Amino acid sequence: MIGGGMMGGGFGNGVRESLGKELVDYIAEYLSTIRQRRVYPDVKPGYLRTLLPPSAPQEPENWSSIFSDIEKLIMPGMVHWQSPHMHAYYPALNSWPSLLGDMLADAINCLGFTWASSPACTELEMIMLDWLAAMLGLPDHFLHHHPEGQGGGVLQSTVSESTLVAMLAARKAKVTELQSSDPSADEAVLTFRLVAYASDQAHSSVLKGGLIALVKVRLLETDEDFSLRAETLIQAVEADRRRGLVPFFLCASLGTTGVCAFDCLSELGPVCAREGLWLHVDAAYAGTAFLCPEFRSFLQGIEYSDSFTFNPAKWMLVHFDCAAFWVKHKWKLQQTFGVEAVYLQHANSSAAVDFMNWQIPLSRRFRSLKLWFVIRSFGVAGLQAHVRHGIEMSKYFESLVRSDSRFEIPAKRHLGLVTFRLQGPNSLTEELLAELTHSGTMYLVPATIHKLLIARFTITSQNTTRRDLLRDWNIIQQSAAKILQRPNIHCVPEQRNCDVSGFSEGTNYSQNANGSLIVI
Ligand SMILES: *Cc1c(COP(=O)(O)O)cnc(C)c1O
Repeated sequence: MIGGGMMGGGFGNGVRESLGKELVDYIAEYLSTIRQRRVYPDVKPGYLRTLLPPSAPQEPENWSSIFSDIEKLIMPGMVHWQSPHMHAYYPALNSWPSLLGDMLADAINCLGFTWASSPACTELEMIMLDWLAAMLGLPDHFLHHHPEGQGGGVLQSTVSESTLVAMLAARKAKVTELQSSDPSADEAVLTFRLVAYASDQAHSSVLKGGLIALVKVRLLETDEDFSLRAETLIQAVEADRRRGLVPFFLCASLGTTGVCAFDCLSELGPVCAREGLWLHVDAAYAGTAFLCPEFRSFLQGIEYSDSFTFNPAKWMLVHFDCAAFWVKHKWKLQQTFGVEAVYLQHANSSAAVDFMNWQIPLSRRFRSLKLWFVIRSFGVAGLQAHVRHGIEMSKYFESLVRSDSRFEIPAKRHLGLVTFRLQGPNSLTEELLAELTHSGTMYLVPATIHKLLIARFTITSQNTTRRDLLRDWNIIQQSAAKILQRPNIHCVPEQRNCDVSGFSEGTNYSQNANGSLIVI
């Protein structure tokens, strides 16, 4: 092996193999005993700096001293996302076929920007995205391999990136359309008139997309179920047209981050078609649930969509990164992101798909390998069972919350997310979350709806049991009892920010170590 003796600090092949096996053993042990760890670390900002040397080692170090630093230095500063007691954000699951898939992809380490740069990398990805589209019940117009096919799917690193890519492609398409009737019009001047829409519950990545694409984004009011309805969109479009603006894009959310609300796609789709808006659907978390036909009612109207994205790296047992993104017209991506460079041309340029023209970076990882391993190892039935188990667990937790009148459930439960709060002022729920986080026993993050601070409790792990949830619920009840007994607890302004009403609706918060809220 070329250079083999230099790698890994000069270990021979046999030694390197045993170190690899040792790490795999460590990973297996880590994941199987994860319940025993504190979910949220007890460290202060800058903790690691005091523990590491100020500069890089001049000479190679031996592996055993590097490896022993993991438990000593790194693990104490980790949030353990795979723990069944992790309830913050949305899940970011992994599984053994996924880990093995990426281990292999990392060893191969191809950069599949064109078909020719690694044919299997592009071809497996196309097949996996077709499989996935069918598994979710998405329309045929998203398939690569279809007689009339003009569409197809691709893996992006994140849903944020998918949404940005969709927005940029929609911008290009609308500007091109406007230029066809006014060829002398300047692209920048036309872009300045564009306006995109999303609900006031939409993910922050829509606003960020607008910042990067230099287009206005208008967040529209939702109904009492936090759902965007056609009437609201129609009024906004009409008002913007009167202002001389050009509506061009709607990001509809299926499963919002705050309370897992669903925009009314069946109403919004026809409006987008009539008004010439690109309909992009963000189903980052909830997309995985569409594996099960019984949860597909929210997909009604999907036939109107121009693009759709969800993140198998949230709930589908494929670990980060792996965000699936489909478009109806692939040429709209190619006309936005196509670049010419002699070194990127190849003999099959016209016959093959070059995914570099479907995304922002040039290089791309071999992500479809882990997806293939996961889909084959669990089968559609196994993945469906996983989704149904998570939802059963969340129903069970919801029933526990409902059995205690000190608590209320401020938004309807959808899928694996239960929201709850202590009856009374926001400060009580804020205090409860701070207490739980400090205890290290579990981790939840808040959100706000209609000025109410709520706790979000997501079922994350595929290994969550009723016993785990009962344990968590008992701790929540005990913490609540302690807080409700404290005199005047809901006004200690010098310690905590009691009033969150200044924050905007639908914003998601994270707690930092001292219990105060920061916007994420
Ligand atoms: C998690 C989430 C995102 C962001 O996903 P990334 O892949 O981290 O960019 C976007 N939209 C919704 C609704 C989400 O829940």
